[in-house]
Amino acid sequence: MAAPNILPAHLSLGAAGGKFAIRVGDDNWIPRWARGVVLTFKVDRPTFPSDPAYYVATSALIEAARKYNELELGVRLKYVDSGPAVFKMIYRRNDLETKDYLEHAFFPGADLEERVLVIFSKAFKGPYIGAMVNIFYHALGHIFGLRHEFAHEDPHDQQFLSVLFGAENTESFMNYFENWREAVVTEQDARELKDFYALGADFYEDLLLVDVNPEGQWM
Ligand SMILES: [Zn+2]
Repeated sequence: MAAPNILPAHLSLGAAGGKFAIRVGDDNWIPRWARGVVLTFKVDRPTFPSDPAYYVATSALIEAARKYNELELGVRLKYVDSGPAVFKMIYRRNDLETKDYLEHAFFPGADLEERVLVIFSKAFKGPYIGAMVNIFYHALGHIFGLRHEFAHEDPHDQQFLSVLFGAENTESFMNYFENWREAVVTEQDARELKDFYALGADFYEDLLLVDVNPEGQWM
C-alpha cells in the first residue's frame, strides 16, 4: 500500500525549539512497518565524492541502526554490502532548494523509488560530521514512522495531520538541534517507540494504523 502525501522529512539548522513528543501520522492514517519486517539497506558508494566520506557515513548509519536494533521493536535494520535492499543511502550535494538539508528520509509504506536516505554534503561540514550518528538517529526515526516533535506547530509539517503518541518530550531526537550531538534517543523516546510498535489496535485516536510491508527492492 503506498502512503499518500508522504511528507518529505528533512533537517535544517536550528529551525525550532519548543515542546513536543513523538508524533506520527500523515494524511489520515498512521503507517508502521509490519512486525517481522527486516529493513535491509545498502550504500551507493559511487555517489560519494571520496572514500573517507563513504566510510564515515556508512559506519555512522550502521551504528545508528545498531541502536535501533537494541530496542527490539519487532522490525530490524540490516546492512547489506550488495544485493537486494529495502532502501539505500546516497550522497548528494546541497543545491539551492536543499541548501539547509542534512539528510532526507522517507516514511513506512513509501514506494521503492522514495526509499532513499540522502546524506547531503552539508552533513560532512565542521559542526555536523561529528554528529552524523545523531543525524541518522533522527533520519531513521522518520523511516520508522516518526514525525517531528513540532509537526503540529510547523507550517510545513502542518500540511499533514500528525498525532501525539505518548507524552510531549522537549528532549526528543525528533526535534531540530543547534548542536546535533544532542539528538539522542532518550529513554522516553525509546519507550514510546517500543509502545508504538507494540500497539495491537487497528486505530489510534481515530486514525487507521496500517502495518506495511516494503514492496520491491533496490537491486
Ligand atoms: Zn526530520
